[in-house]
Amino acid sequence: MTHYSTDRDSALELDAIDPLAPYRSRFHIPKHSDGSDTIYLCGNSLGLQPKTVRQYVEQELTDWAALGVEGHFHAKHPWMPYHELLTEQTAQIVGALPSEVVVMNTLTVNLHLMMVSFYRPTPTRNKIVIEADAFPSDQYAVASQIRYHGFNPDDSLVELTSRAGETTLRTEDIETFLAKEGDTIALVLLGGVNYYTGQAFEMERITKAAHARSCTVGFDLAHAAGNIPLKLHNWDVDFAVWCSYKYLNSGPGSLAGCFVHERHGDDQSIPRFAGWWGQDKTTRFLMGPDFTPIPGAEGWQLSNPPILSMAAVRAAMEVFGEVGMERLREKSVLLTGYLEYLIDQNLSGRVRCITPRNANQRGCQLSLVVTSSGKNVFKALTERGVICDWREPDVIRIAPVPLYNSFVDVYEFVKILSEIMENGNRRRETGKWKEV
Ligand SMILES: *Cc1c(COP(=O)(O)O)cnc(C)c1O
Repeated sequence: MTHYSTDRDSALELDAIDPLAPYRSRFHIPKHSDGSDTIYLCGNSLGLQPKTVRQYVEQELTDWAALGVEGHFHAKHPWMPYHELLTEQTAQIVGALPSEVVVMNTLTVNLHLMMVSFYRPTPTRNKIVIEADAFPSDQYAVASQIRYHGFNPDDSLVELTSRAGETTLRTEDIETFLAKEGDTIALVLLGGVNYYTGQAFEMERITKAAHARSCTVGFDLAHAAGNIPLKLHNWDVDFAVWCSYKYLNSGPGSLAGCFVHERHGDDQSIPRFAGWWGQDKTTRFLMGPDFTPIPGAEGWQLSNPPILSMAAVRAAMEVFGEVGMERLREKSVLLTGYLEYLIDQNLSGRVRCITPRNANQRGCQLSLVVTSSGKNVFKALTERGVICDWREPDVIRIAPVPLYNSFVDVYEFVKILSEIMENGNRRRETGKWKEV
């Protein structure tokens, strides 16, 4: 148990002894209107830009200008095998073998491609299980897959809900559910970290319970990749997908990741939607009519990828390669624990945290319910240079990111939030507070 304290000096002290503090200067921190750094707590939505991105993208622009099509083989980093430059670090981030991962497409596209291969419903086993507050894109994707196969989401889409009075799911309840209903379930698809509550699911236990009933298991790691340590290979997960623009800092709409477990990677009996970039590299340019996939996750690629976007991913991955998930997680637990502590000390009774208290059941994000005039609080935060995000009806999501956020960031955020809430209460008492 770390002993935090509430004064600003102790925040400065924590920054002074933080071994990852120098990494902040490797990122562009957006500025507030007064020229100071914003307090950016929104890396769960869009990660900040590593300063090396510009140079990496410019290299490809230069090579394209100078070489044209020859860049595929003669660019400084030839475009043909460019995605391979991302494999090693991507595999480390998600705990996979290099052959199990590939960077391609975008998240929802990859989710569909994975469901084409791994959602194989039958008349008696056709359900997909998701969490009740799953990200909308995932809900649309699974419902459309169910319809595509001729089933009805009203019957085949199962949403796991928390117990009455609780905000997060208990692993034992998921296990009990799977034990009971497992033989009607084709696919269990959960977020590794729920985007709304910030709950990190116990992926190993859930995978085990699902496999015991022969259900396939996939995870959407949009909020987990680069946030919490993952061991997809050892946990025996069937497939996973994630985007790279949240904790992985690769730029808006940048390319996504995909994991296919080794035991499926060479199985050509699994149906898939194919494209030429998944074709065996030695015969791809023979342009023949027969599709022979590259073994492993790469065999699910469709297209010649966007190199400019991939250059940004490469710059971002290199930072992760240097730091490593272990050191990131160590700081993350300390930093989010500090946020939790300051909220408890300064805002208890006024702000309720719906993210699990146990650090093992969350990443860096805390989701705070601000029941009285929440949206006004959010607006006031923005005015004072705090960038965070608001989810209807009354949740503010705060993500202190260990790569570039400081303990002083967290201290200043709680101080500003406390001041805003005190002012709000005072104004409401005198009748001047306007609800918007
Ligand atoms: C951010 C996020 C997405 C976004 O999907 P895109 O295809 O990248 O637009 C999907 N699912 C989850 C859980 C997310 O957090």
